[in-house]
Amino acid sequence: MKSHVKAVVIGGGVVGCSVLYHLAKAGWTDIMLIERSELTSGSSWHAAGGFHTLNGDPNVAKLQAYTVQLYKEIEEISGQSCSLHLTGGVMMADTPERMDFLRLAHAKGRYLGMDTELITPSEAKAMFPLMDETNFVGAMWDPVEGHLDPSGTTIAYSKAAKKLGAEIVLRNRVVELTQEADGTWNVVTEQGTVKAEHVVNCGGLWAREIGRMVGVELPVLAMEHMYLLTEPMPEVEEFNKSTGREMIGVLDFKGEIYTRQERNGILLGTYEKACKPWSPVNTPWDFGHELLPPDLDRIAPSLEIGFKHFPGIEKAGIKQIINGPFTFALDGNPLVGPVQGLTNFWCACAVMAGFSQGGGVGLALSNWMVHGDPGFDVWGMDVARFGEWAGLRYTNAKVRENYSRRFSIRFPNEELPAARPAQTTPLYDTMLANNAVMGDSWGLETPLWFAPKGKEPKDIVSFHRSNDFGPIGEEVRATRERVGVTEIANFAKYEVSGPGAEEFLNRLMTNRMPKTGRIVLTPMINEFGKLIGDFTIAKAGEDRFMIWGSSAAQKYHMRWFEKHLPKDGSVRIHRFDQTLVGLSIAGPKSRDVLQKLVDVDISTKAFRFMDFREMAVGGAPCMVNRITYTGDLGYEIWMAPAYQRLVYKAIKDAGEEFGLVDFGMRALLSMRLEKNFPTWFRELRPIYGPFEGSMDRFIKLEKNDFIGREAAAKEHAEGPKLRRVSFIVDAADADVMGDEPIWAKVSKDYGTVEKPHGYGAPRFDDKGKEVRGSKAAEGASAVRGIVDGEWRVVGWVTSGGYAHYVRKSMAQGYVPAALAEDESAGLFEIEILGHRRPARINVEAPFDPNGEKMRT
Ligand SMILES: Cc1cc2nc3c(=O)[nH]c(=O)nc-3n(C[C@H](O)[C@H](O)[C@H](O)COP(=O)(O)OP(=O)(O)OC[C@H]3O[C@@H](n4cnc5c(N)ncnc54)[C@H](O)[C@@H]3O)c2cc1C
Repeated sequence: MKSHVKAVVIGGGVVGCSVLYHLAKAGWTDIMLIERSELTSGSSWHAAGGFHTLNGDPNVAKLQAYTVQLYKEIEEISGQSCSLHLTGGVMMADTPERMDFLRLAHAKGRYLGMDTELITPSEAKAMFPLMDETNFVGAMWDPVEGHLDPSGTTIAYSKAAKKLGAEIVLRNRVVELTQEADGTWNVVTEQGTVKAEHVVNCGGLWAREIGRMVGVELPVLAMEHMYLLTEPMPEVEEFNKSTGREMIGVLDFKGEIYTRQERNGILLGTYEKACKPWSPVNTPWDFGHELLPPDLDRIAPSLEIGFKHFPGIEKAGIKQIINGPFTFALDGNPLVGPVQGLTNFWCACAVMAGFSQGGGVGLALSNWMVHGDPGFDVWGMDVARFGEWAGLRYTNAKVRENYSRRFSIRFPNEELPAARPAQTTPLYDTMLANNAVMGDSWGLETPLWFAPKGKEPKDIVSFHRSNDFGPIGEEVRATRERVGVTEIANFAKYEVSGPGAEEFLNRLMTNRMPKTGRIVLTPMINEFGKLIGDFTIAKAGEDRFMIWGSSAAQKYHMRWFEKHLPKDGSVRIHRFDQTLVGLSIAGPKSRDVLQKLVDVDISTKAFRFMDFREMAVGGAPCMVNRITYTGDLGYEIWMAPAYQRLVYKAIKDAGEEFGLVDFGMRALLSMRLEKNFPTWFRELRPIYGPFEGSMDRFIKLEKNDFIGREAAAKEHAEGPKLRRVSFIVDAADADVMGDEPIWAKVSKDYGTVEKPHGYGAPRFDDKGKEVRGSKAAEGASAVRGIVDGEWRVVGWVTSGGYAHYVRKSMAQGYVPAALAEDESAGLFEIEILGHRRPARINVEAPFDPNGEKMRT
């Protein structure tokens, strides 16, 4: 065993071996994988070995597609077979709602370049004759599904990595991790200490324990999972013989089961409602190649439906029941990337579908470690997407909820109840008393909308407009015509201070920093010129800046800020989290309300649009921004939590004579739509350049050498390939939700239409050589110009909904820049729940296009 290496990967499951292979392929060969026992000694050896590309997050779906296409490559390099069976598979819908869900998934597939197809239950039965098709209303076929040998695949990765020079040490547990002052990690193992620049936690079932070695409680939990194997079945053998094909994989949402052929019998697994965590607090180190006792009672309800839906299976004898543990994060997606607050400590864990995702996880992480950037939009699996609130008990409740709902529909207006309320502001009880329907915003209870008095404050979940439609319309109209107040405690808030603060922010942000008492809006981009943040920044005093941003990105942004902090201590960053809370008042009467509560002049001239001021509001010390996301006249008022009730009551009392109403987050998001304002993580994501995102006026290329300037200047000079645009959609009773395809009747060539999922960071060709430029871009497959008569899919929706004040259904999305700028392009169509609805690009915001109201 070497004593010094560039990187140590802890864990020899499928994920650790994939990370090792990808690091070696990227040129880091001075690396070592340390495994406690033999390879696959965690959850990998007893997996059912199924793989598929579909995922709720299209970016994760792309990484799953990469994983599937990688198997041939590792087989070739290693000489080890993965026993790949690419059978294809179907998802069966038993209700119209589930069919809507499949239509959405199929529509998404159109711009992701996936060949899914909506088929009838009888067509599905022809490929899996054991089903009773009368239980279903429709199905979706995906040809890129199948199964493989889990151990063979893990070994193929490990052999390929070894061929490229990586070292693998078996039967050697990592017992401790410490870090030297210079950042070097001491990886203390049973066989001695290895010094490493980087450590990767691929501990699978023990990832949580490895996190604890460095003081981190990762939001990951193992769950018991059962599948059964039948005796050989004559029906299966007969099908194979008569068709010359294997039976396909089937996913049955109602039964919460998946099933497929295994040898000449059937494998059937369940995601039962009565799910059970395994080792909820500590994972025993002596757990190895053993299985858990089966518990048929627990999966009986699923089996009962399963046998009704697949009567052919019921007749077969059960040969074996496998019960094994594997890990999940709160939302079922992996935890990947550098852990905020630590240096060179990386995670690739909570990978619940290692054989669909392991390759993509390995590629993204190795890109990140070697080139400083994952090269893909990996937000959906970034370890930074959960906050400190996701502790052990919270994780337990959420993972159980996620597991039991694995095959349930998540409606766009559905808030899930587990582990709530977690964090609340002082106004929580008041908001409930006001009949608020609350939502979870990064662990914080936040009012979404207010139900009318006497009505139960509860969403009726739906893909269509629902019971919040009327009340949100009322909130919007009252705010736009009079005045409204809403809680904004869920924004991220930071203070950056010190003599180097301004220079630091100027280096990170694309816009100029404001003068004292003024505010700017500014994107933040990475070295590759891609959007990684969007902030409101106020200069609060000499060497002191207040920053507001996206709540969910707090750890993601802190990681970036910390990475770029000058080493001389000249800049301090403080993240407030819930030690600073806020209220926003907006609407034409908002100044009248605020003026009653302050002892200073806040007239148009004295307190201008985009001014920042510290002032007492209703007697409480507050910071006030003259800006609101509604795009109206309005203010954001920030205070310590101890003052929030006082300020809220003062606003309500002062507002009474003006007809002030409470409004929630959904009304706020509706109002931003009619102003064409983008949102972070929807319109603005690290796959788009700032000019593609139509953020032109916030990019000051001439100001200084900010991070990403060169790439942004190139984008500007060459012209953006895509453009973010707003549409008005001729919708019926359902609005867009995001990820719908945009169609156009194109008469000219507007260039290649690709949804980027990868960006700037280097990629590699078949021989492991780095490829750059246009060749690299080819790796980012996406919209493939699907032809349907003259209509083609030309782009994708990022978000949208109903803009209540202008009474229009609106959408934002990306289309080729040349098409966005061609006034003769004519009509577009946006596919909503399988129906293509006419849509028109809307250049000017339909509400207050010249921004006069917010400047009044
Ligand atoms: C019953 C069942 C069915 C499944 N079916 C499928 C399926 O069909 N398709 C699919 O994609 N996935 C399936 N899975 C999930 C799949 O098994 C996991 O996604 C995958 O195994 C995760 O791999 P991993 O490498 O992250 O973790 P693990 O396989 O748990 O590997 C972690 C490794 O780290 C080692 N380790 C931990 N701590 C230390 C330490 N301190 N020092 C040294 N070594 C350490 C362990 O010994 C272990 O070998 C299934 C799982 C189960 C239980």
